[in-house]
Amino acid sequence: MTYRIAIAGAGTTGLALAGFLRAGGHEVSLFERFDKASPVGAGLLIQPTGLAVMARLGVDKALIARSARIKTLYGRTHTGRTVFDLSYDILGRHIFGLGVHRASLFQVLYDHAVAAGAKIHTACAAESVTTHADGLMSLKTKGGDFGPFDLVVDCTGRHSKLAERHADIRMNRAYPYGAFWGVCRDPGQVFGRGGLQQRYDAAKVMIGTLAIGKRPGSEDDHIAFFWSLAARDLERVRAEGLDAWKARVLDYWPDMAPFVAQLETFDDLTWAEYGHKALRSRVKGRLVFAGDAAHAMSPQLGQGANLGLIDACVLGEAINGSPDIDAALDHYQRARRNHLGFYHRASLWMTPFFQSDSKAAPFVRDLCFAPMCYTPWLKDEMMRTLAGMKTGLFSHIDPGQWHQDYAIRRRRG
Ligand SMILES: Cc1cc2nc3c(=O)[nH]c(=O)nc-3n(C[C@H](O)[C@H](O)[C@H](O)COP(=O)(O)OP(=O)(O)OC[C@H]3O[C@@H](n4cnc5c(N)ncnc54)[C@H](O)[C@@H]3O)c2cc1C
Repeated sequence: MTYRIAIAGAGTTGLALAGFLRAGGHEVSLFERFDKASPVGAGLLIQPTGLAVMARLGVDKALIARSARIKTLYGRTHTGRTVFDLSYDILGRHIFGLGVHRASLFQVLYDHAVAAGAKIHTACAAESVTTHADGLMSLKTKGGDFGPFDLVVDCTGRHSKLAERHADIRMNRAYPYGAFWGVCRDPGQVFGRGGLQQRYDAAKVMIGTLAIGKRPGSEDDHIAFFWSLAARDLERVRAEGLDAWKARVLDYWPDMAPFVAQLETFDDLTWAEYGHKALRSRVKGRLVFAGDAAHAMSPQLGQGANLGLIDACVLGEAINGSPDIDAALDHYQRARRNHLGFYHRASLWMTPFFQSDSKAAPFVRDLCFAPMCYTPWLKDEMMRTLAGMKTGLFSHIDPGQWHQDYAIRRRRG
């Protein structure tokens, strides 16, 4: 049985979902608000779970070729005290994360969706859906009305208009802290070999670098760079000027000199706000929510794009594998519950340790996290959490199994 399916939003989740659904032979139309579908932002850490989804789509090698393999995650305070020190090797020598430029991830997924036969409609900001008496649906966009569809999937991200209008939103709030993000050349692989690195001063200052491999259009290696900042301080920092900000960065991390030198104006940096969002249900009749439209969180654990990729895989393969679309949607809702629930709680819990005005949370972090990284079992669980594998306190999924059977597998930790 094949269906006519509309996907709103040509981001990571929407493009991956289009690829999965086209593999099932469905008629797929993607609606994107921009005149030209394109990525926004700098770098991302794709976890082994997200990479397993890319492999399932058959596009992992194309992404790996342009990206940086990340083996280690290291953070310390500005006074030199280690806060975390973890390696993907804990989970197996073949396991790694992938530092990617957003444009590389976008291009690989976009090319795959188009080659697979998804129709992309640009300048079509989705506004609302209507379910007709015969059960079919239409999608109203700024570029016109489209339909009929058997199913509409909302992948329009955290600020989804469709979710605002049609979903039962349990929580949607902005965090007080966001970050400046930028991309710099790293020709000598100064940071490239270091994987993900962070520096902290309490939870008010956090600086990070992530090797991301090649930027599209360049053969040089690059790093993504971020500087955490309270949203209330944004205008003050801009008013003080770029040189004052650079001096602050170098005060904390002198090795950053060759990178901040590449930034000429604040326009070379992207300001990103973080928020936390959860829905009571990710399925409403034949309207389904996936990715950040359904569950946004702060990037402390580096999971958002990975969770969106897994949503796409579970939803797409459930629809492809079931003769009953409502049973497939029910499977999607249930299969994603534990995994998303764990990362929702973990993200809410972890964020104050790294980005907040709290004095107690970073004090506890500086005291406890490093010993936990060196304690058997605890270090495995910490690494599994960062690798995107956890479904509960004592359970996890195994990305390596997904090639054989995608049903979310739960194992005792
Ligand atoms: C600074 C920062 C760093 C991050 N780092 C990581 C990381 O290291 N690892 C990780 O896994 N995640 C990370 N995340 C989270 C990750 O970026 C998101 O979770 C991920 O992009 C969500 O993908 P999505 O496709 O669901 O939504 P989006 O990426 O937001 O894509 C939504 C798409 O829908 C389009 N759209 C919006 N409204 C409409 C509309 N009305 N109609 C049609 N189209 C519309 C948008 O233009 C866009 O193309 C980070 C996020 C931020 C902000």
